[in-house]
Amino acid sequence: MSPECIFVLDHYNDYISGELLPENATRVENHIRSCPNCEEFLGRAFKIHGRTVGLLRTPAPLSLRNSISNLFDEA
Ligand SMILES: [Zn+2]
Repeated sequence: MSPECIFVLDHYNDYISGELLPENATRVENHIRSCPNCEEFLGRAFKIHGRTVGLLRTPAPLSLRNSISNLFDEA
């Protein structure tokens, strides 16, 4: 693992949330262009991040809420 890979691992969270300094974001982007491992890692981290944000923003579907309240009714 190169020092640049470690840099990506250390900073990917801030990179995904857009809080990384522009020069550090450029460093991450330059590295993933030449490192398939970090590119894949970052891609996966982006997907997980997007999924988490999506879950927080999307209310539970009505059917799910009904079956949960049914559970409470039966208890
Ligand atoms: Zn790398």
